[in-house]
Amino acid sequence: MVEHMLKFVTVEQAMPAKRAAERRRKDFQEIYAEYSQQKAAEQAARCSQCGVPFCQIHCPLGNNIPDWLKLTAEGRVEEAYELSSATNNMPEICGRICPQDRLCEGNCVIDKGFNAVTIGSVEKYITDTAFEHGWVKPPTPKRELALSVGIIGAGPAGMAAAEQLRRKGYAVHVYDRYDRVGGLLIYGIPNFKLEKEIVQRREQLLRAGGIHFHSGVEIGKTVSLTELRGRHDALLIATGVYKARDLAAPGAGLGNIVPALDYLTASNRTGLGDRVEAFVSGALDAKEKNVVVIGGGDTAMDCVRTAARQGAKSVTCLYRRDRANMPGSQREVKHAEEEGVHFQWLAAPQGFIGDRAIAGVRTIRMHLGVPDATGRHVPQEIAGSQFNLACDLAIKALGFDPEDLPAMFAAPELETTKWGTLKIDRRNMMTSIEGVFAAGDIVRGASLVVWAVRDGRDVAERMHRYLQTKDAAPDRRAARIAAE
Ligand SMILES: Cc1cc2nc3c(=O)[nH]c(=O)nc-3n(C[C@H](O)[C@H](O)[C@H](O)COP(=O)(O)OP(=O)(O)OC[C@H]3O[C@@H](n4cnc5c(N)ncnc54)[C@H](O)[C@@H]3O)c2cc1C
Ligand code: SF4
Repeated sequence: MVEHMLKFVTVEQAMPAKRAAERRRKDFQEIYAEYSQQKAAEQAARCSQCGVPFCQIHCPLGNNIPDWLKLTAEGRVEEAYELSSATNNMPEICGRICPQDRLCEGNCVIDKGFNAVTIGSVEKYITDTAFEHGWVKPPTPKRELALSVGIIGAGPAGMAAAEQLRRKGYAVHVYDRYDRVGGLLIYGIPNFKLEKEIVQRREQLLRAGGIHFHSGVEIGKTVSLTELRGRHDALLIATGVYKARDLAAPGAGLGNIVPALDYLTASNRTGLGDRVEAFVSGALDAKEKNVVVIGGGDTAMDCVRTAARQGAKSVTCLYRRDRANMPGSQREVKHAEEEGVHFQWLAAPQGFIGDRAIAGVRTIRMHLGVPDATGRHVPQEIAGSQFNLACDLAIKALGFDPEDLPAMFAAPELETTKWGTLKIDRRNMMTSIEGVFAAGDIVRGASLVVWAVRDGRDVAERMHRYLQTKDAAPDRRAARIAAE
């Protein structure tokens, strides 16, 4: 082992080559290149093979990181892929967009003094290489079962659950109100973090494994929950959270103040070749505008960086706490700064100025007061510190809450928590309705892709256990067999 590993003393941390900020501002392509095999092996060899791997403990999927790093260092990439894909349904996606600085890499032991192993980039390299060599196989089951599951939501939680259940032999049908598969992977997260071909490559694999996707089907409108329950032996709700938090301030009703997801979806759709009227008209295009983005999370970072690429005159991010207390990834802030985004830390909007459309944001300086019950310092206004920011497009990126699913699904018996997320029995992940399970953001609240994958895997296991105890209803099974 020593021959290949523990190179952190002599080999410096090196991310894959990053494109220069001036170049990447001109397009929406990913900003990092791929490692060569030699570079991946060299960087993987920096791992110290700790007895207690904190990286693995802090990866929500419990990925066996030290072992696949060692295999990569030894040039055994196919085996590294087998190991990494055993715990993760989309390693190439997590490798690209996990906030590694808060998860695996942030807990890498050698980070104290030598900089962490570039775990995410190696993970991405392993699976991209596996795709190139045809090692990634569709989830085709060894034998078909006579039971079927319906999944509402084709985001990462739904996709991971679909793959796991299909591998076990269930007929899997995934329903989504969007016209494309991927949830926030396709319409939320911009190309420069995750190119859409990467998501579509996963979708094709799931389709090749026999998973049926039904796009443009909104449960509660196109089909009722009751009807769907009748079609399948078990259901999974993985609908994510989509109710954008709003801002109550004078002038909030002026034109050109838009919700973040509308803005990002328009940009992603345009990139995918769709004609988006609100983008074509300029309403959701930042070109030659002074853009102010309000918020400090991942969504806000995606908005500022999208605006920079659309050719905004200026891009400012307003966040009411300081840099150390922002929820978004520090890595993303660094990228944004390099791309010319200006951050106004400890600043909050007090109101919007303008006639019909916005012309400026009335802003006030904040300071961090005493911590509240959650331990976070409460931002407080500094009297008399107001200033105005020129603005022709304001983007609200203040977070998301769950939609009212019991009302949307006409299912008042579907119990929710005080935050509006779905209540599940933690032991079996079932909602208050028999045979209806839930996973991902709709249970957890707005979270991360890696947690959605984890939840999707966990719920698939619980659904399998549940389905094992019940045989397919004979009439439904007969109808299905007749239809085949
Ligand atoms: C802008 C943005 C950037 C982000 N960046 C990152 C990042 O860099 N890294 C990271 O780890 N996480 C990031 N996240 C968070 C991450 O995208 C989510 O945590 C994750 O996608 C949740 O997965 P999910 O499957 O639960 O829900 P979603 O991905 O939201 O998928 C839910 C799906 O359900 C469908 N649906 C909803 N209601 C219905 C209905 N009634 N009928 C049919 N279909 C329905 C939706 O159309 C959607 O396709 C980001 C989120 C946003 C908004
Ligand atoms: S899934 Fe995310 S947290 Fe886990 S090893 Fe990969 S990049 Fe790190």
